[in-house]
Amino acid sequence: MYYQFAEAKIMKFGGIIQRWFEKNRRELPWRRTSDPYNIWISEVILQQTRVDQGLDYYKRFIETFPDVGALARAGEDEVLKIWQGLGYYSRARNLHRAARDIVELRKGQFPRTYNDLLKLKGVGPYTAAAIASICFGEARAVVDGNVSRVIARLYGVDYPINRPAGVKQIALLAQELMEEKMEEEMEEEMEKLSLAVHEPSGTSDPGNHNQAMMEFGALQCIPVSPHCEECPLAHHCNAKLTGRVEQLPVKIPGKRPVDRWFYFYIMTSNGEAILEKRGDTDIWRSLYQFPMVECKAPRTEQEMVEEMKGIYNGRHVSIRGFSDPIRHQLSHRTIHARFIHAEVSPLYSDLPSGWIVIPIDQIDKYPVPRLIHRYLESVKI
Ligand code: SF4
Repeated sequence: MYYQFAEAKIMKFGGIIQRWFEKNRRELPWRRTSDPYNIWISEVILQQTRVDQGLDYYKRFIETFPDVGALARAGEDEVLKIWQGLGYYSRARNLHRAARDIVELRKGQFPRTYNDLLKLKGVGPYTAAAIASICFGEARAVVDGNVSRVIARLYGVDYPINRPAGVKQIALLAQELMEEKMEEEMEEEMEKLSLAVHEPSGTSDPGNHNQAMMEFGALQCIPVSPHCEECPLAHHCNAKLTGRVEQLPVKIPGKRPVDRWFYFYIMTSNGEAILEKRGDTDIWRSLYQFPMVECKAPRTEQEMVEEMKGIYNGRHVSIRGFSDPIRHQLSHRTIHARFIHAEVSPLYSDLPSGWIVIPIDQIDKYPVPRLIHRYLESVKI
């Protein structure tokens, strides 16, 4: 059964959500500014992590690169290091590249319109709408996962929200909700609920409206067990009225993640270790790792030892130990990893391309995948 958009009664809930936001909004550092640089950084970070986890990343990023010029001047390794642990490293690289373009091609001036923002590397409709509305007052509705869920439930959209028809419909409804003035019956409803009738956000404060929608999805209309009993929209919400709260939004399951087996060889000698810089064509682009061999199937400890001895044929190799098997989930891949640690004498003098010898106590300076970062937090090498 599909939602009939053309026949649907479009009700305007913006004013009620706005009032809810005024009472329930969280005080967050990026809500105290309308500087497009800060909003840009916060929105990109929040695309891949929850607010509580993103907060520290945001503070660290802004402290290290306080403005677009500082970000443009930084080296790529420095930017990736600050980003370490957030995943989706292409987003950090795009931020860096876009900062350089702003400085070099736009004399440091941040684009001020949705359409110009879209020209920046890595800036898509969501980020452009967030910056254009919050910083420059442009009436562009943001549509992220939170907003999609709220709209799908409120209006009973049962097109899958991760397919083009659903994306389009949600975007249309989100934009309508932003632009239209609240209908009279909703004003009456607010009075009934003892809420002061304010001028709805409409087009007067698109940035505030967008933040209200995202916050409503993050705190009230949450994915599982939303707080319907205390919801100011419960009397109007299609999903609630039709008993479909748990069924909406509809999502088509993604492809099953592909399994990959990574074996990392930690080779140390007299306080030094070998790192390898990853290439440009696979996950974790340009990050550092311990030299790694990928296999098509699980490998035994004995096979790992044989491989380590093969790499160091003729040198002294003393095995220190193995990690337990580690399962690391990425969006489209499941990484099955193990680490083997050996003290080797001597370390390579002629290193393969991309390998470097570093003092072990400097390892924190290198951006590494979260899998390796977590491992290094759990052991002393
Ligand atoms: S009634 Fe429930 S499902 Fe509907 S908007 Fe409110 S919290 Fe979300």
